Amino acid sequence: MCVYCTLRPADHLDHIVPCSRGGSGALVNLAPACRPCGQSKGDLTVVEWMAVRAAETAAGRDPAGSSV
Ligand SMILES: [Zn+2]
Repeated sequence: MCVYCTLRPADHLDHIVPCSRGGSGALVNLAPACRPCGQSKGDLTVVEWMAVRAAETAAGRDPAGSSV
């Protein structure tokens, strides 16, 4: 189960803090996630991505399709 949307099955382990942002490959920095969430999140941290999602949801968009 994807930890971000909790709707779709996880198909990979997402870096909570991306490697490109100094995150480690340790288990504590990995979370099971679905592809749409992983692609939407990109190289943002979870906190940054949540803020983006909140703004986009407020604007009537849902890039990860989590309202389905
Ligand atoms: Zn997801």
